[in-house]
Amino acid sequence: MNAVLDDSVQRAGPALAWTQRFHGLGPDFYTELPAQGLPDPHWVAISETCAERLGLPPDWAQRPDWAALQVFSGNALWPGMRPLASIYSGHQFGVWAGQLGDGRALWLGEVDAPAGPLEIQLKGSGLTPYSRMGDGRAVLRSCIREFLCSEAMEALSIPTTRALAVTGSPLPVRREEIETAAVCTRVAESFIRFGHFEHFAHHDQPAALRRLADFVIERYYPDCADAAQPYAALLEAVARRTATLLAQWQAVGFCHGVMNTDNMSILGLTIDYGPFGFLDAFDPGHICNHSDHAGRYAFARQPNVAFWNLHALAQALLPLIGEPDAALAALEPYRTEFPAALLSALRAKFGLATAQEGDRELVDDLLRLMAQDRADYTITFRRLTAFDSAEGAPNSALRDLFLDRPAFDAWARRYAARLRQEGSDDAARALRMRRVNPKFILRNHLAELAIRDAQAGEFGTVERLLKVLRRPYDEHSGAGPEIEAWAGFPPDWASSIEVSCSS
Ligand code: AMP
Ligand code: MG
Repeated sequence: MNAVLDDSVQRAGPALAWTQRFHGLGPDFYTELPAQGLPDPHWVAISETCAERLGLPPDWAQRPDWAALQVFSGNALWPGMRPLASIYSGHQFGVWAGQLGDGRALWLGEVDAPAGPLEIQLKGSGLTPYSRMGDGRAVLRSCIREFLCSEAMEALSIPTTRALAVTGSPLPVRREEIETAAVCTRVAESFIRFGHFEHFAHHDQPAALRRLADFVIERYYPDCADAAQPYAALLEAVARRTATLLAQWQAVGFCHGVMNTDNMSILGLTIDYGPFGFLDAFDPGHICNHSDHAGRYAFARQPNVAFWNLHALAQALLPLIGEPDAALAALEPYRTEFPAALLSALRAKFGLATAQEGDRELVDDLLRLMAQDRADYTITFRRLTAFDSAEGAPNSALRDLFLDRPAFDAWARRYAARLRQEGSDDAARALRMRRVNPKFILRNHLAELAIRDAQAGEFGTVERLLKVLRRPYDEHSGAGPEIEAWAGFPPDWASSIEVSCSS
């Protein structure tokens, strides 16, 4: 046992195999330290599917001897947990920000779970050497947002870090107002970011940089080890995964909000849920982060920002790759793979079974109309699933979303012709389309409903919302008016919600 942790309360725990391979990187990469726990904690939310993935038994949260509530509030440790905070750097809003690090996150350890190793982190468990000006805390509001969105993204099959639980506490925390503290427990194959590489490159530590790259290749990208240039191959593999991720974000209408390089996962996962948002009315220029005054991370800019971030990663890997041209060449696939992945996702959203010339124009023309008329992104696609391709069919529910009816009618005629041309069967297509066009997404106002209830000590809304978001493509018919309303247009008050970096 590490001396620094001797004072932490050890509790019995489930029989998990802890592998702790990150520790093997050595002390250049982290500081071992205990959490600053939450006083008087209570459960706010639990993800049973995440627990299952970790290999935890169904009663894991309730067994008195395991004291999971204390463990996931930072007040106790299960045997085998060895908490640490890792060091990284990064570019924030396009500017080199210097050293950052896990300022309020604590890595508890890596579990050899049934489906492979998974790392567990607490977020909001107190000060670390990397907290800079922060207080090391997270507020209940932001933990509920991260929890719900992580699990929603998983259900949408979008690569993401997971969330196991949120615990709350009466501990006051100052943000714009006084809020209360919470801890979100998150789970991922790895929490390594582009910023980890940038850190060791910028601080001229080539040996550490190489150790990190070798670690990532060995564990997550083993095929790269056999390449002629393993580090260039790693960069290319990350570029490809990032292209896939961005295509999925754009297709579902997800805005991350803070695509700084320290918030970019080396595994192409969605990571660091802060001021994110899903599109309501379609606006390509939508800025979900109230602190992003210049709109650097506006919805339509995300794919280019990701490419910019990949250049920052390339720069960091340059000491290992050697040739700038080889590094640039490794990024090239992003240029083709992102648009190809996006078009393929859009074809599926439009129910097009074959690839034909003119598809891009057909898709873009509807998107343009949607943007012009501020049609709701999710509702438009969900209504499109019921499109009747018969000549002269009114398609009223869909048509009603548009102000420029003649323009919509002209587009609908082209779409119907395109569908008939590939012999598309309306019923079969509708079924297919409903598996890629969600009925339920985590709109800001839905998160807000769950947050307000939780702040008042009522956690049922988080639980019900989680249940619905876990099956986003289902109709949930018969679930009642509350749930049906969650699939509807945002209410007027939704536009007054301001989501900023403050979390
Ligand atoms: P973010 O914009 O949330 O990705 O955070 C950027 C950096 O600030 C990361 O290194 C975080 O760990 C750190 N940070 C953010 N909020 C806090 C906080 N309340 N206390 C300590 N560090 C923080
Ligand atoms: Mg971050």
